[in-house]
Amino acid sequence: MRNPHAGIPFDTSDREIVAALQDLSIPTLMLSLVHMSGDAELIRGRLKPAGLFLNEVQGFMSEEDKQEIRDLARDVIIDYRDRGCPEPTPISAELLGEMMSWLVCEDVPEEYIPMLLEEMELDGSDARRIEFTGDAEARANFPVLVIGCGESGLLAGIRLKEAGIPFVIIEKNAGVGGTWWENSYPGARVDVGNHFYCYSFEPSDTWSEYFAQQPELQAYFETVMHKYEIEPHIRFETEVLSAAWDDDQSLWTIQIRTLEGASETLHARAVISAVGQLNRPSIPEFPGADDFAGPSFHSARWDHDVDLTGKQVAMIGAGASGFQIAPTIAPDVAHLSVFQRTAQWMFPNPNYHEAVGPGVQWALRHLPFYGRWYRFLILWPGCDVGLEAARVDPAYPDQQRAFSEMNDLARQMFTEWITSQIPDDPELLAKVIPDYPATAKRTLQDNGAWLKALSRDNVELVRTGIDHIAADGVVTTDGKQYDADIIIYATGFRATDLLWPMEITGRNGVDLRSRWGERPAAYLGMTIPEFPNFFCMYGPGTNLAHGGSLIFHSECQMRYIEQCLEILIAGEHASLEPREDLYQEWHERTQREIKTLAWAQPSVEHSFYKNAEGEVHILSPWRLVDYWTWTKEPNRDDFILR
Ligand code: NAP
Repeated sequence: MRNPHAGIPFDTSDREIVAALQDLSIPTLMLSLVHMSGDAELIRGRLKPAGLFLNEVQGFMSEEDKQEIRDLARDVIIDYRDRGCPEPTPISAELLGEMMSWLVCEDVPEEYIPMLLEEMELDGSDARRIEFTGDAEARANFPVLVIGCGESGLLAGIRLKEAGIPFVIIEKNAGVGGTWWENSYPGARVDVGNHFYCYSFEPSDTWSEYFAQQPELQAYFETVMHKYEIEPHIRFETEVLSAAWDDDQSLWTIQIRTLEGASETLHARAVISAVGQLNRPSIPEFPGADDFAGPSFHSARWDHDVDLTGKQVAMIGAGASGFQIAPTIAPDVAHLSVFQRTAQWMFPNPNYHEAVGPGVQWALRHLPFYGRWYRFLILWPGCDVGLEAARVDPAYPDQQRAFSEMNDLARQMFTEWITSQIPDDPELLAKVIPDYPATAKRTLQDNGAWLKALSRDNVELVRTGIDHIAADGVVTTDGKQYDADIIIYATGFRATDLLWPMEITGRNGVDLRSRWGERPAAYLGMTIPEFPNFFCMYGPGTNLAHGGSLIFHSECQMRYIEQCLEILIAGEHASLEPREDLYQEWHERTQREIKTLAWAQPSVEHSFYKNAEGEVHILSPWRLVDYWTWTKEPNRDDFILR
């Protein structure tokens, strides 16, 4: 069978090929040319990218060099077309390594290459799919319940179906997509490039923007759901209330409730929690909020029946969500007051709102491995280097300014980006430059839309604290009232209350919330002692603040979980849970590591990463390559198997 990434044969005219080339990432194109022509010398000459930065896909090449490559590409592509688009001959591992390093302008260390090749799947295989070898009947008798049908729950469903394991997915919403179902606020879009932010085995060649908006993302997950025929396994508008382990029967008993209020009891041999960390809105209790006369709603519960046109709007909170909402609604409202407690660091991403040109979609379909190399090009700058920018050098002076020399450089770069946009507005500048080190909170990607919105005559950024909410506005601690017809709460989620409000009860009646207290943990982010056959995806210690993509993490996790299920299905053991000593050691090690990083420092007061004690338990402090290595295969000795 033809490798899907080798391209679909085409009869595109010479003129159309030349036009398509205008839209492409030139360094990525060059590597596709190597596949088409089999000529490695193409990347050994003068023409090469000059540097790399996150989302910079042209390698800082000069216009002349780019045009030279386009001219070369025209001839190679026409020849490839005229030869009938033969499947390219496989490329040696050595040359692949050379191509990787060429594209990203640095030596890609050996230890990363197996992970990257797996992610790129150049051989067309679905590299993270597990081929179950055991008894099919045993699998058929091992029902699994998945909680949630966002990206990770859908992935779990796909893998369970492939394995022949019966499963049901319980989803509280009316559709698939999780975060991308719920966050339908104006302007919602992803901030990991979409040609990477999609399943490795299900790349899309139809993204209309480099950072797609919510409807397109939701549609992607819906399309995948249909393609893999997962829908019949999903119970929408149904919520899991509780799950309790019965040790005698080695079975989970799960209580669910439909939207209409009907309760039901289900049983499963294993439970996979795929509820994510950002799906329970958090609305602070401001005095008087209940007396507000107009509509008010949370960003993740957007009321599309409320028309903002010509209204006075107050938006409380401006993290990642508010940052996208304000620029989108500002042109329509009469007045927008943005209440931001803490200023946010942001860095430039010129492609943030850019449309994907038709040439890109053509190249993704027809030019061998263009999409795979493009995926790598977006992935690599977010692959572990962000961890170093967040690393704290305790000897670095003035930790309120920066954590290290590299962190200071990031601060300078971000400051320059902000300042360059509003050089003549010192008043606004003073409000928007954060007073804590770069990367200590989630850094936002920006194309200038935020400060452009704040500079509008009908928008005001308020940095004074909120005292209370009146019937017709928001009153700050200095006694000033900001009139409002509508209040939008862009105030984030109960991120540290993992799995809340479900009641999960393990062996001997132990309650998960009591066990965790303020410190949720799971061995490798997935398994918990006394909670047999219970697996978390996007669990404690696995959120990514330093790069990568949660889909990458989910694929690592699901491969690991599937192999744990394989151990159970083999039949000798009815339950699996991690050893307490390893779990404790993992948690302590993770905590030690996270304390060396920006997010856990006291320099920033408010952050959804932190629990009430200021500790960070939801983020991963680990390099992607380490997490990939550790989760590739479960070690049976890590578990208590009964
Ligand atoms: P968030 O980052 O937690 O921001 C919440 C905002 O509400 C902050 O400005 C926060 O101020 C403010 N706030 C919270 N409690 C407050 C209080 N009691 N008084 C005053 N202000 C208060 O939430 P989010 O913006 O919804 O984003 C959450 C996460 O979702 C992001 O970090 C990201 O992981 C994800 N997300 C991603 C995208 C994307 O991909 N582009 C978009 C949206 C969301 P402080 O900063 O002072 O706490």
